[in-house]
Amino acid sequence: MKGIQGHYNSCYMDSTLFGLFACSSVLDSLLFMATHRQEAAIQTTLLQQIVNPLRRYGFVPSCNVMKLRKQLQQEGYSDHTFATDEKDPEEFLTLVVQKILQLDPLLKLTAEGKVQENSCYQIFLDQKHTLVLPTVQQLFEHSLHWSGLALAEIPSCLILQMPRFGKNFKMFDKIIPSLELDISDILSESPRECVLCGELAGLACADCFTDPTFGRTGFKLFCLTCSEKVHLHPTRKAHQPSRVRLPKGYPQGARPPLPREKLQLFAVLCIETSHYVSFVRHGPRPQDWLFFDSMADREGDQDGYNIPQVQECPEVERYLQMSPAELACQLPREMEGVAKRLFCDASMYLYQSPSMCLYR
Ligand code: ZN
Ligand code: ZN
Repeated sequence: MKGIQGHYNSCYMDSTLFGLFACSSVLDSLLFMATHRQEAAIQTTLLQQIVNPLRRYGFVPSCNVMKLRKQLQQEGYSDHTFATDEKDPEEFLTLVVQKILQLDPLLKLTAEGKVQENSCYQIFLDQKHTLVLPTVQQLFEHSLHWSGLALAEIPSCLILQMPRFGKNFKMFDKIIPSLELDISDILSESPRECVLCGELAGLACADCFTDPTFGRTGFKLFCLTCSEKVHLHPTRKAHQPSRVRLPKGYPQGARPPLPREKLQLFAVLCIETSHYVSFVRHGPRPQDWLFFDSMADREGDQDGYNIPQVQECPEVERYLQMSPAELACQLPREMEGVAKRLFCDASMYLYQSPSMCLYR
């Protein structure tokens, strides 16, 4: 039960595959959907040589992953470096999910009525942000706010890439993994609550997003009465709140509390000095975490082989429960077990929707 055996710069692919398929079935449609002949060969390798042995025996020998890498290269889907060079999980995911198997796009974003489709979302932040020890929730909200985007629909699987400058420079020392991602206020055309009184919101104010009076995060939605009051203040007179669109046929008299739409974190991919590892949640409890490294150990030199490792890492729970102030004081090198990697090296967060993944 050691996971996927790494070989020759494969860690990006091993970690992505382990993260996606070890304990989640959210992307299983990828393995069973109808495809053309050429794509079917790749799909079969993915299913029979990787996902099945991983789930049945907990182990996948490195030759199976190498077979997939060679197929990706030979079939002309990518350049000739796919079986040899280091890549990004994003490049691999886009290739397999979007280009080859052509799964219905995982992510649909909307800006002023236009819909953009993608398989991952890269978080961008403007220069003026004041985040120091952000949660994934805050990063996602800031990025959408800054780029004027909203989710067009609830994604069954949401893949978020953390902000980076260049190849190795990290923007934040630590990021707090939000175990749940509340997307209620980020969904376009969904009924939302006024942040002040809780009534059905009719207006959203992008200028109030960064106003510290209402808390440092979250989209600012108001009912008509509250918006009028809030924007009476001289510093907010120039704001231009926009109308919130409700779904067609939404009952006029409907009253809060409105259901919140939340996605669950199921895996995190981390990178440190260009080596990828992953964390997977294997149960509902806060301590139910696994750490996976496809090249944890090595036997022999040139003609030797890597020994992968899967280990439980309940120690991350302690840090997840800390207050931001307490967490900020933790010296990375003194953090227990593998917790440092989760908090300091995360590059990609994988979320799933418990309700939507039943339909896709
Ligand atoms: Zn209100
Ligand atoms: Zn405002």
